[in-house]
Amino acid sequence: MNLILFGPPGAGKGTQASKIIKDFNLVQMSTGELLRQEIKLNTALSKKIKLINKSGKLVSDEIVNPLIEKIVSNPKNFNKIVFDGYPRNIFQAETLNKLLKKFNQKISTVISLNVSKEMIIKRITGRISCLKCFKIFNEFFNPPNPKTHKCDEKYLQKRSDDNLETIIKRFDTYDAETKPVLDYYREKKSFYEIDGHQEIDQIYNKIKTILTNLRD
Ligand code: AMP
Repeated sequence: MNLILFGPPGAGKGTQASKIIKDFNLVQMSTGELLRQEIKLNTALSKKIKLINKSGKLVSDEIVNPLIEKIVSNPKNFNKIVFDGYPRNIFQAETLNKLLKKFNQKISTVISLNVSKEMIIKRITGRISCLKCFKIFNEFFNPPNPKTHKCDEKYLQKRSDDNLETIIKRFDTYDAETKPVLDYYREKKSFYEIDGHQEIDQIYNKIKTILTNLRD
């Protein structure tokens, strides 16, 4: 199955995706993460992406769509992709449709995590990621526990776009450009909305039920 995890920045898409891929043997495809990898390469393109990330705007479709094609066209990922942070506008949704058709695949379900702006601000300003194992923590709600998280502390970092000013801009971009994608899927596919204010495991149990029933 291929699925789309939908929601504003800080909705918990990455956290839920990492649980889903383990239990259902899928592959996580986070465009945000792919772009951050590109930034690390320190190319002319890296600088451009970094600036856009900081502004809270979307990187151009010309940059993002080829990243997706690479993942969708890879036979190893056939019908196994969790889309996290993509599509983020209608054009990307249409591009994804065409790509999936081209490679004989489809979206099995779209799950939207609904979270208020206030909650998002708290979550994002506290977010810490481990650069080694890619786990995501939150200094207020889910701090890294040395008993269960074994990587060195030096790998724990905040994202440069996780500051208040950028967060507000990212949320506005979501409202203006990404939210309309929800209506696009609401009409077309198997579609679920989950209250994203709940505990991580509560949300995950709901997702697990949806996905398990899909497989039956
Ligand atoms: P994320 O980690 O998903 O919050 O993404 C971080 C930043 O990367 C976003 O604020 C955008 O600037 C950029 N980005 C991520 N995914 C996309 C996408 N599908 N289309 C355009 N820009 C994206």
